[in-house]
Amino acid sequence: MTSKPFASSADLTDKQQTLEVLADGVYALTAEGDPNVGAVEGEDFLVCFEALATPVAARAWLDRLREHTGKPVRHLVLSHYHAVRTLGASAFGADVIIAHDDTRKLIAERGEQDWASELARMPRLFKEPDSIPGLTWPTVTFSDRLTIDLGGDRGELVLAHCGRGHTEGDLVAWLPRHKILFAGDLVESQAALYTGDAFHREWATTTLDRVAALEAEALVGGRGAVAHGREAVRAALGQTRAFLGTMLEETGRVRAAGGTLKEAFAAVHAALEPRYGRWPIFEHCLPFDVARLWDELSGVERPVIWTAERDREVWNALQS
Ligand SMILES: [Zn+2]
Repeated sequence: MTSKPFASSADLTDKQQTLEVLADGVYALTAEGDPNVGAVEGEDFLVCFEALATPVAARAWLDRLREHTGKPVRHLVLSHYHAVRTLGASAFGADVIIAHDDTRKLIAERGEQDWASELARMPRLFKEPDSIPGLTWPTVTFSDRLTIDLGGDRGELVLAHCGRGHTEGDLVAWLPRHKILFAGDLVESQAALYTGDAFHREWATTTLDRVAALEAEALVGGRGAVAHGREAVRAALGQTRAFLGTMLEETGRVRAAGGTLKEAFAAVHAALEPRYGRWPIFEHCLPFDVARLWDELSGVERPVIWTAERDREVWNALQS
């Protein structure tokens, strides 16, 4: 077997970015499987959702957004702690940076290691990495729910924690008035799942149940196209749940039979590849995903910190 290039290190082709206006003052920027971002207009301010990997990458998104609105960014909302979602924050000049309580804790605990890990895994996303001034620190955090009044007759934006999932501290941003949901990496639409920091059993059950209960009519996932309409939203949720379910089933089966991590990886890969193999970052994610699930099923409560060194070890053990 020829060895595969590490993670997404050989993926150097820029993706096509598409800005969609989902409703009056509601924007999503998708990019063929690269991390998605969004924005919501308040009466005289903007709420931005996700910050991309560097200020230079974020500035390109803000330039696109400025073709539609010149309102200042009051709130920058971070769905979770991962570097490619947070390190571009300084470009927004936001008054307030909002995240879940545990996201702030995770940045303190493992933000530096995660930065080094993600930079090596996905170098293309880090446009001019020297433009990053340092870790991004949320200035307002919450545990369950936080509501932003958008002013005028624009309704409200509800930020909610639906339980542990992609990380310990994921939040979603929900516009009840338009039934539009920004789901962060809790839901992917035609992109593979990264579960290296996940709580698979909780994510696949109660957390996704709570996301589904919102009954969104449009959903912006962490990566991939916007899901338009109830049916497409259901399909994105179903795809996410099935990916997790297959991982749990195959890894659980190999463990029960006294197998090894490497055998579990092979079993999960074989089971997922026909449906998910061609979707973005599938090969990149899978070794890290199965390594974390193996730990979870072994009783390791919290994800082990990924360092650039550990990334290579796990990759070399499973993917080459
Ligand atoms: Zn993530």
